[in-house]
Amino acid sequence: MNDANTPLVSIKDLQKYFPIHGGVFYRHMGDVHAVDGVSFDVYQGETLGVVGESGCGKSTLGKALLHLYPPTAGQVEFEGVDLDTIPTKRLREMRKEMQMIFQDPMESLNPRMSVGSILEEPFIIHKGEHEFDTAKKRKTEILRILEEVGLPKSAFDRYPHEFSGGQRQRIGIARAIALKPKLVVCDEPVSALDVSVQSQVLNLMVRLQKEMNLTYIFIAHNLSVVKYIADRICVMYLGRVVEDAGSQALYKKPMHPYTQALISAIPEPDPALKKEKQVLEGDVPSPIKPPPGCHFHPRCPHAREQCKVDAPELRPVDGDESHRVACHFAEEIFGLVSQNL
Ligand code: SF4
Repeated sequence: MNDANTPLVSIKDLQKYFPIHGGVFYRHMGDVHAVDGVSFDVYQGETLGVVGESGCGKSTLGKALLHLYPPTAGQVEFEGVDLDTIPTKRLREMRKEMQMIFQDPMESLNPRMSVGSILEEPFIIHKGEHEFDTAKKRKTEILRILEEVGLPKSAFDRYPHEFSGGQRQRIGIARAIALKPKLVVCDEPVSALDVSVQSQVLNLMVRLQKEMNLTYIFIAHNLSVVKYIADRICVMYLGRVVEDAGSQALYKKPMHPYTQALISAIPEPDPALKKEKQVLEGDVPSPIKPPPGCHFHPRCPHAREQCKVDAPELRPVDGDESHRVACHFAEEIFGLVSQNL
């Protein structure tokens, strides 16, 4: 059990590298630096948004913190327990408390299984760890969960392909919440859905969070979706966190040039408030050989010589530990660009 002062999840200097092998002798040629020293705490009932372009390591981070990928280095604590130090059986039991919602429900739901069987699976995997020990009790509970996520009871005997994208994501959500977890890692849960359906699914997630005191880590590639749901946001670039702040603070006072570019890319519905869009040149560099110094320097419009050699630490802005940025010149740059944000 964790008290209010203990984070539900605490990750410290987490790294996840994927080795690359090749050549005649299948030698180790290098590593993909997917997650490169990420630290943060998440408290019960909170939503942490993790934002960044494709390839920035955010999905790997989500899987590494659930120990679906064993970390290369660093620590993941859940309710104060270091997941690396516990026996596999205990880790398996703890997984009941940590679930995941995937981007594409069609890929994550077995098309050969009925919705009833899909939702029964977690109860069977975690047999003996809950009160639903008979098929009858499980069916009653699954019908209740279907109702909870806005699906008809008749969904029980139907198959995933018979549902729309939004309904399939509701099935994915139902599976994730079936065992009443504490933490749900949501990996781009609405990006494959039509805009009109996105808000319905987000509303459902917000309601479930309130009712079940869920903690979300909400991964997304743009800030507009996360703005709606997150209490705090970590902006990631090439495996590192470049800015970490409360949602309001991040939108009002984005300190990192990359965050500023992401915010300027959010469409402004009011034409009278038209803002200057900051277009980032080039693509995200390869995580196999990230640029030295500040990883962002080849694309940063404010880069200087120091940035090419010196990696900036994630440090508090104006002594405020709740707003941290990894940029040598953040204050000066914010002063220059703030009128255009
Ligand atoms: Fe840009 Fe330098 Fe700041 Fe990196 S440290 S974001 S390159 S100004």
